[in-house]
Amino acid sequence: MRAQTFDYIIVGAGSAGCVLANRLSEDGAATVLLIEAGARDHSLFIHMPSALSYPMANPKFSWQYVSEPEPFMDGRRIHCPRGRVIGGSSSINGMVYIRGHALDYDGWAQAPGMDQWSYADCLPYFRKAETRAKGGDLYRGDSGPLHVSTGACHNPLYRAFIDAGRQAGYPYTEDMNGYQQEGLGPMDMTVHRGRRWSTAMAYLRPAWGRKNLTVQLRCLVSRVLFEGEQSPRAVGVEVLHQGQLVQLRANREVILSGGAINSPQLLKLSGIGPPDELQALGIGLRSALPGVGENLQDHLETYVQYQCTQPITLFSALKPLNKLKIGLQWLLFGRGLGATNHFESGGFIRSQAGLSQPDLQYHFLPLAVRYDGKSPASCHGFQAHVGPMRPTSRGHVRLRDARATTPPRILFNYMGSAEDRRDMRAAVRLTREIFRQAAFDAFRGTELSPGAAVQSDDDIDAHIRANAETAYHPSGSCRMGSDEMAVTDAVGRVHGVHALRVVDASIMPQVVSGNLNAPTIMMAEKIADAIRGRVPLPPISAPVFADPNAMSAQR
Ligand SMILES: Cc1cc2nc3c(=O)[nH]c(=O)nc-3n(C[C@H](O)[C@H](O)[C@H](O)COP(=O)(O)OP(=O)(O)OC[C@H]3O[C@@H](n4cnc5c(N)ncnc54)[C@H](O)[C@@H]3O)c2cc1C
Repeated sequence: MRAQTFDYIIVGAGSAGCVLANRLSEDGAATVLLIEAGARDHSLFIHMPSALSYPMANPKFSWQYVSEPEPFMDGRRIHCPRGRVIGGSSSINGMVYIRGHALDYDGWAQAPGMDQWSYADCLPYFRKAETRAKGGDLYRGDSGPLHVSTGACHNPLYRAFIDAGRQAGYPYTEDMNGYQQEGLGPMDMTVHRGRRWSTAMAYLRPAWGRKNLTVQLRCLVSRVLFEGEQSPRAVGVEVLHQGQLVQLRANREVILSGGAINSPQLLKLSGIGPPDELQALGIGLRSALPGVGENLQDHLETYVQYQCTQPITLFSALKPLNKLKIGLQWLLFGRGLGATNHFESGGFIRSQAGLSQPDLQYHFLPLAVRYDGKSPASCHGFQAHVGPMRPTSRGHVRLRDARATTPPRILFNYMGSAEDRRDMRAAVRLTREIFRQAAFDAFRGTELSPGAAVQSDDDIDAHIRANAETAYHPSGSCRMGSDEMAVTDAVGRVHGVHALRVVDASIMPQVVSGNLNAPTIMMAEKIADAIRGRVPLPPISAPVFADPNAMSAQR
């Protein structure tokens, strides 16, 4: 690899990095280098939606991080896979397309200097990114690179979940990414013509042939290079490629899109972070930013599982011969059970009265199994994944040593706050109540998990400590803002240095109420305009559902 100079260097070809590579190179005016530690996405297991549990477990496609022993989770180390392949985590994720609630973004916009992040300002960029198979409207896009389809809900259990929600008193929502997030309904997925629609497919592939875009794979960025002592300016990166260290130069900017674990790691390796931590590891300080790696957030979820009394679940699909048939049907025709992520219904409810927006999210699955495909029940079953959307526990990403090849120390402090434990208990109880409704009478067998014996607060807390898993949404570890713990300004520019940005899920000030791929893509679309000096898309004032009784009633 030769030392070269580019206008922009983007570190990480993930959800945000692919968007930036496309947008910054689209008018041909600037030269862009996109550097990715992983390789191409040449695997059927990445492209076949139903195979989603394979790439997340494969070290070829994922940084197989684990957390430190979690103090409020019986000391368990929680698996934290992150995509290491073009498309990043959008190539190994569950493909659920959820934008979060309008009030999440309005909440971000309330912090000083953050007014450009209101929902009205973000909505045009969600629309710009998207092509919705069902067609666009005031909320949904119809001509963006990211194809989004809606679950067909052929299996009667998907419908039963939605109907049970209604019977329990929750609203039906036709489009939880549109006017009304609250309620249960069909879910959207980033699946197009039966294939996973990662950002590599949506944004990188169409741009790959451009003369002004260079993509460098299997290349680990080990630090950002600076010039100037008093007023440091990022001028490039040092990379580890085939055992050699090479320096690459950026005329305009270096943009870190390494994700919520790797971006704070890279900032710290480059001398930007809490002075004590860096000093202890012998890393020279460029800029004292105590917030780098702090404010780490994630969604924790639990599975409420039942036996199914009818042989209609995906249990039969797990048999080797059936897997082969499903794979062949998908390969030949792009259809069938291989062409969906199986999260076809779900939704959002409020755990208690007094909340202005939902705080619990559901993914329904006509199978009793962990998200990562482990521990499938030995019978027909179904489940809802449920968990609090706005946890108050906070964790951190800290360096173990000064080497870029050493995984950092990651601690989430899941269930560290009394509020999180309270909300998780409510989640379990409200989910059981939904499954008790008449819509499930024809299907409901024994409760497999947590199990009938788990009833008291202490029982549920113990069950969660021993069994709850991540929904894979680390975020917030380089958050935007203007206070002393903020890492970047409202357009991702790192405080205290010049020509260096972070654009990925790490800059979210608070995790949004939903899955993170769509929000990360939206943020990258929006900041790409800021980097190019373009006038932001005009805000869209779209009405948003609010239950008039929300302050006095839980539903
Ligand atoms: C298993 C799993 C399931 C998920 N399910 C869903 C879901 O169903 N729906 C949803 O919306 N969200 C889901 N998410 C979350 C969502 O996919 C991520 O939040 C989002 O993709 C993060 O985007 P990002 O740009 O911040 O980082 P990433 O997409 O993770 O991209 C970071 C990229 O940078 C590269 N990189 C990092 N460090 C370096 C370095 N030093 N040098 C070179 N390259 C580097 C990485 O290899 C990676 O390709 C899931 C995530 C996972 C892991």
